[in-house]
Amino acid sequence: MEDKRNPLKPGGKRRFNFYWIYIILTVVLFALYFGGKGDNPKEDIEMGQLIELLQKGEISKIELINKEDAEIYLKENPTKVRYTYRIGSLERFEETVEQVQQEQGITDPVYITNIQRRSWGMDFLLGWFPLILLVVIWIFFMRSMGRGGMGGGGQIFNIGKSKAQLFDKDNVPVNVTFKDVAGLEEAKVEIMEIVDFLKNPEKYTKLGGKIPKGVLLVGPPGTGKTLLAKSVAGEANVPFFSISGSDFVEMFVGVGASRVRDLFNNAKQKSPCIIFIDEIDAIGRARGKNPINGGNDERESTLNQLLTEMDGFGTNSGVIVLAATNRADILDKALMRAGRFDRQIYVELPDLNGRKEIFDVHMRNLKLGNDVNRDFLAKQTPGFSGADIANVCNEAALMAARKGKEVIEKQDFMDAIDRIIGGLEKKNKIITGEEKRVIAFHEAGHATTSWLLQYAHPLVKVTIVPRGKSLGAAWYLPEERQITTKEQMYHEMIATMGGRAAEQVIFGKISTGALSDLEKVTKQAFAMVTYYGLDDKIGNLSYYDSTGQQDYSFTKPYSEKTAEIIDQQVSKLVEQAYQEAVTILSNNREGLTQLANKLVEKEVIFGEDLEHIFGKRPWDKEETPEVKTADEPKLEDHEG
Ligand code: ADP
Ligand code: ZN
Repeated sequence: MEDKRNPLKPGGKRRFNFYWIYIILTVVLFALYFGGKGDNPKEDIEMGQLIELLQKGEISKIELINKEDAEIYLKENPTKVRYTYRIGSLERFEETVEQVQQEQGITDPVYITNIQRRSWGMDFLLGWFPLILLVVIWIFFMRSMGRGGMGGGGQIFNIGKSKAQLFDKDNVPVNVTFKDVAGLEEAKVEIMEIVDFLKNPEKYTKLGGKIPKGVLLVGPPGTGKTLLAKSVAGEANVPFFSISGSDFVEMFVGVGASRVRDLFNNAKQKSPCIIFIDEIDAIGRARGKNPINGGNDERESTLNQLLTEMDGFGTNSGVIVLAATNRADILDKALMRAGRFDRQIYVELPDLNGRKEIFDVHMRNLKLGNDVNRDFLAKQTPGFSGADIANVCNEAALMAARKGKEVIEKQDFMDAIDRIIGGLEKKNKIITGEEKRVIAFHEAGHATTSWLLQYAHPLVKVTIVPRGKSLGAAWYLPEERQITTKEQMYHEMIATMGGRAAEQVIFGKISTGALSDLEKVTKQAFAMVTYYGLDDKIGNLSYYDSTGQQDYSFTKPYSEKTAEIIDQQVSKLVEQAYQEAVTILSNNREGLTQLANKLVEKEVIFGEDLEHIFGKRPWDKEETPEVKTADEPKLEDHEG
């Protein structure tokens, strides 16, 4: 798998190591603190010696430092401290000095001067420490905010610099070309044009044509949008700036805008080149949608700056901005206006053929066993994105390596697929015998209902091996339909309720194990009533907002009364589905029990086992081709 964020930073400068500041600071403070001492030879003396010196009249002066220490200067060298004496009681000390001199009848008595003094280091510390601390903290914050900046060094001054990562010939070359991008044929055709623009701009400008400035790549995560953008740069052999929308947004006001400015300045210098903005929704979301706080000013100003920059650079400048999002509908309409991102390329999840090709690309460097067949694997991975498939291939290689194999076998791929769908098998999760029976009946309930309902998706496999967070799972191979009828939706809801219904029918009590079933079924019922106009009472109305411009979390598009009816209809629908499931399972108690027992015994069962128990589904195969529009099955895992 490819790593989007290459650790090699372009620019080649080494990052300044921040810890030097701490070290230097510590050394300086130590030097200051201890440096003051030991610069001239001083001796500590006792009271007795002091009295002796006084009697002899050798002392020139005594200075009391902080009323704690006495520094004694001698007449032979009155500029240097010769002795120090630690004072116990100040009064007694002064008394003694006076007394001794009086007794000796000295005419010019030694004066005691009082001096307040702190040590150099201490002074420095108390005076400057708070300030230094502040500066250090400030630097620290700046540093963590400016992290990952271009070129690294001096992060404090880099906060407004764009954090785009640059790929070009001198630094990290873009080594992705179209042959690394599998499937996506339509997208490639459109993107090919852009490569041509970048390579031979004259061809278009000669005729007065304008080269597009922005292209929006729209599609679910992991479908290869980044890959596609990179391949454009790779094919056209131009530099590639990569940045994520969220990299613009910072705590400080104005930073986002200045980063946009900086990015475009850099790009213009490298023109022709490509700027790739991943997750552009982070800055491009429609403005001013939130009625509470009036939107996010910082994000808006960043977006405005982006629009200004895109308007500002000429169509012939050779900079093309590619941006990726998985939701074009929530983007600000201003982004899509002519001269900005006026082209949109849809990057969909790969179909069967697409998946075959993606497997090919990612199997290129793997050592495969003879039993690995990419056609079979592509069939087993409906609904997988390119990134998922890349992940499967990598995971399979790791699994084979863990088992000490020489080549990667089919089973490794199958395990990798299961793992990616459901998370790691947790074979040693502790489940009591009774719990296991409940789970088996729950899953068997899903399996039985879906098998017996014409429009529910046929089952591929059921397990009661705990995986990830779920305790059991059923895999279906639904036909990917372009339209779904009310019956189909209803039958699916019944199958979803089949788990809980089985618990009710067999044990007479229900459990918490159906949480995700209930969530799913509630959402589906809600969609049927409010989005698809499939409910008699609500009628042919849809409260769905495809523009994403309304904020329904604050204002509902229907009245309180309608809201009540919606609630009623949704709960009626779910309740009906549940009762239907209970009826089906009561009538097929025998088969359900057989199936559940088999599950307890084998932990995994497949479609064939159901066929043994319930017989063939009469409506399968013969009838289906003309009813079902799409040939593309979609895998849906179901948590129980
Ligand atoms: P997106 O930007 O759409 O979220 P990426 O381009 O980052 O997805 O894809 C992640 C990884 O998935 C890629 O680096 C690549 O390994 C793999 N991948 C995705 N789509 C494809 C594809 N069509 N062909 C080959 N590999 C793909
Ligand atoms: Zn379930």
